Amino acid sequence: MTEELYQTDSYLLEFDAAVTATDGQAVTFDRTAFYPGGGGQPHDLGTLAWAGGAAQVVQVKKQAGEIWHTLSGDPPAPGTKVHGVLDWGRRYRLMRTHTALHVLCGVVYRDYGALVTGGNMEPLQGRMDFEFETMRKELVVEIEANVNAEIDKDHPVRVAILPREEAFQIPDLIRTKINLLPPQIAKVRTVEIVGLDLQADGGTHVANSREVGHVRVVDYHSKGAINKRIYIELDSKVEGR
Ligand SMILES: [Zn+2]
Repeated sequence: MTEELYQTDSYLLEFDAAVTATDGQAVTFDRTAFYPGGGGQPHDLGTLAWAGGAAQVVQVKKQAGEIWHTLSGDPPAPGTKVHGVLDWGRRYRLMRTHTALHVLCGVVYRDYGALVTGGNMEPLQGRMDFEFETMRKELVVEIEANVNAEIDKDHPVRVAILPREEAFQIPDLIRTKINLLPPQIAKVRTVEIVGLDLQADGGTHVANSREVGHVRVVDYHSKGAINKRIYIELDSKVEGR
């Protein structure tokens, strides 16, 4: 099992590890800071270096508890010490975008009681589907204003890893369909935008809502009778940071 360093420290942008196995151009380590993708958040990119070699990390995925990194060339042999460095610009934009989508979820649930049915993101762009019967321009303008108002409130973002039984007692988590988690999952990772939103989530987030910066709702459309899709974009730079 690869130790998933990004689960407890999303700001870790480089790390040392040892190769545990290889498969073609893919390699796995005892520990990694590379996010393998999941929950709508794409995998990280970056570089890997070792004595006598270096390569780009072009794809990352999780398989049976191991994080596999596909390289641009041949991987080093098992036992080799490696140094990994994330493409931090991309990762940080994904962290801001992911937290922005959780702020959107929190606002839409608090103000309209609408549940999320799906979502996806790229750096600085995201979309989310809600159980909404009607979506109008005025509603979208209101949602955008309330999302930015919450971002500006400096909400801390807290990550916790809880025993399954404990997580199941948190009423807020039920609405993110925590009950659908397979029974063999003993621990549940939660991401809380304190005072606004609490979800079971495996992604990487910023530590404070203000790091998200300004969010624009750029489009919306109907995906069926009770499903409405909202598109957001973030500024490339965060003002004042
Ligand atoms: Zn999420």
